[in-house]
Amino acid sequence: MLTRRHLFTGSGAFAALAALPALAHDKLRVLATFSILANFVRNVGGDRVDVAALVGPNSDAHVYAPAPADARKVADAKVVITNGLGFEGWMNRLVRASGSKAMIIVATTGISVRRAAGGHGHGDADPHAWQSAANASVYVANIRDGLVTADPAGADAYQAHAAAYLARLDALDAEVKQAVATIPADRRRVISTHDAFGYFQQAYGIEFIAPQSVSTETEPSARDVARIITQIKREKIPAVFLENITDPRLMQRIAQETGARIGGKLYSDALTEANGEAPTYIEMMRHNIRQIATALMI
Ligand code: ZN
Repeated sequence: MLTRRHLFTGSGAFAALAALPALAHDKLRVLATFSILANFVRNVGGDRVDVAALVGPNSDAHVYAPAPADARKVADAKVVITNGLGFEGWMNRLVRASGSKAMIIVATTGISVRRAAGGHGHGDADPHAWQSAANASVYVANIRDGLVTADPAGADAYQAHAAAYLARLDALDAEVKQAVATIPADRRRVISTHDAFGYFQQAYGIEFIAPQSVSTETEPSARDVARIITQIKREKIPAVFLENITDPRLMQRIAQETGARIGGKLYSDALTEANGEAPTYIEMMRHNIRQIATALMI
């Protein structure tokens, strides 16, 4: 006797299912460690991927403490995308604990690593490589190649999406350079909270000075803060900036003590929610250079 079950496993039913659009659970499940990487993945993966970020909008990945639910997300992912360069110090343990078999893509592979000025000679690797649009192109190429390997059937789509997005990143790079060119050369100097804009400085020639190091794990010392205050006064640095992932009080105090203005908020290590000022990487970079240019032109 034919049961309901038999009907649904017949070849006719399979053909009907195959004609349906891809369901969420058919998509390539990709987990990015933080919001900026997830945005790159969305641009390359399009509707073939289902992407989530462990560290969400306006959150600090340096000091993130994974929750038990995060281990499940890692275990469920087919592809995991990390920044590397010590940015997500908690990630290796989380991957081990999850028992994940996911393919791991380190998005900074092949990048020319900046070393931050440090007390131990060589300095720590600066993980904030995405702060130059040219580096973002390296991230995108690594993500594209990883997705092609993980899901060869999507190769054409990933190649096409990546090519279109890489063209937009090239245009963004040129746009930032043009904006910097409008700022008088002797004013291209700003203060941010933590040392997150070293690659931006290398790429675009705006000098960033920060009381806090390349990681937010250690608080700036009183000596570091005093040194910055002296420098701002001596060099008449016009503006200091808040960051979306750090406590604003330090910068407010520095502004008060030096007379420098608060030039606005920069997005360093995380995007905003969709209705915020920097919901995508490209909008983040545009917002940042607009804030900087406006503050330095006054
Ligand atoms: Zn950072």
